[in-house]
Amino acid sequence: MIGANIEKIQQETGHKVKLIAVSKTKPESLILEAYEAGQRIFGENKVQELVSKYENLPKDIEWHLIGHLQTNKVKYIAPFVSMIHSIDSYKLLEVTNKEAHKNNRIINVLLQIYIAKEETKFGLSEAEAIELIEQKQTANLQNIQICGVMGMATNTENKEIIKNEFLSLKSIHESLKSSFFKNDENFKEISMGMSGDYGIAADCGSTMIRVGSLIFGGR
Ligand SMILES: *Cc1c(COP(=O)(O)O)cnc(C)c1O
Repeated sequence: MIGANIEKIQQETGHKVKLIAVSKTKPESLILEAYEAGQRIFGENKVQELVSKYENLPKDIEWHLIGHLQTNKVKYIAPFVSMIHSIDSYKLLEVTNKEAHKNNRIINVLLQIYIAKEETKFGLSEAEAIELIEQKQTANLQNIQICGVMGMATNTENKEIIKNEFLSLKSIHESLKSSFFKNDENFKEISMGMSGDYGIAADCGSTMIRVGSLIFGGR
């Protein structure tokens, strides 16, 4: 079942869109089932759960942290995390850099941008993202690599609203790219699209979709 779900999603979006299998709250047995079907990238939103799954599961899994991250917890994932999608402050970026340095690694990160019409979603406005990038010290953070942006659309049935929000994230990505990352080939990722809206996201230029319930079943 899980393997078939993954294959169906990948066929729909094409292989240029990277699939992050969101395994939060799901047991390790189901992650292994996806792993045996060939899936290697998994996303989690809680630090403690991510660490224990990392410890117990095959070491060639690429773990992505997709949920809100507190600065005092970065140290637990810094030794192994492959990408953090949820950078929403300069302080968090700085702490991530410091912890990556201690582990002698470079951690890939995305800037989480607020695109939804909901009060509860974390993230930066475009202006705040620019301010973060323009901080004099950002250029000196040697142990992080800013790879692009992440966003979540409003939780609505209205496809037009979702599409407009994804197009706005795509346009923010383009504008940051041309202003600050013109010659940086690493700044290329747009992480958008979940179980309910990954098709729209792929049409709007997503490079990474984060899909959970459609692969593993409802939570
Ligand atoms: C849970 C979660 C997802 C996946 O949600 P589904 O609707 O189950 O696909 C994607 N992104 C983030 C940030 C999440 O917290």
